[in-house]
Amino acid sequence: MTVREIRVFGDPVLRTPADPVRDFSVRLQALVADLFDTLSVPGRVGLAAPQIGVSLRVFVYDLDGDRGHFVNPTVVSASGEQLDEEGCLSVPGLQYPTPRAADVVVSGYDMNGEPITVEATGLLARCLQHETDHLDGTIYLDRLDRDLRRQALRAIRESAWRSAAG
Ligand code: ZN
Repeated sequence: MTVREIRVFGDPVLRTPADPVRDFSVRLQALVADLFDTLSVPGRVGLAAPQIGVSLRVFVYDLDGDRGHFVNPTVVSASGEQLDEEGCLSVPGLQYPTPRAADVVVSGYDMNGEPITVEATGLLARCLQHETDHLDGTIYLDRLDRDLRRQALRAIRESAWRSAAG
């Protein structure tokens, strides 16, 4: 059981587009295991590898037992709209209504290199978009309208965790 430290807003790894996985090795399996261990803390629903400082295109999710992982994911279709509160483990304590596609289809691979596709709506669709964004160096705050984004950045500047991170 390895719960890894979560990188917070301001850490450059969160703004770096992650590299595709080319080597489906035991090291990849260990990374997925660490991501699931780190996700297992109550209240956590999704976690991308850059959030634990590993710049590879891998994420895991667990929505009340609807659990999975993706390697090299792509959102292959997105339709409709939803607006709901969203938060991020890398921006602790904050939540903002964030626009997302209502329905998505995500394709990629599992850690053994087998192709997988997930069709999702609602909260799972939101989660898959949020985690795929992390792999592109995008944080959900980037999706907010200008006023809300400004409000969020102010809240971050005033947050205890941000000043602790320097
Ligand atoms: Zn996040």
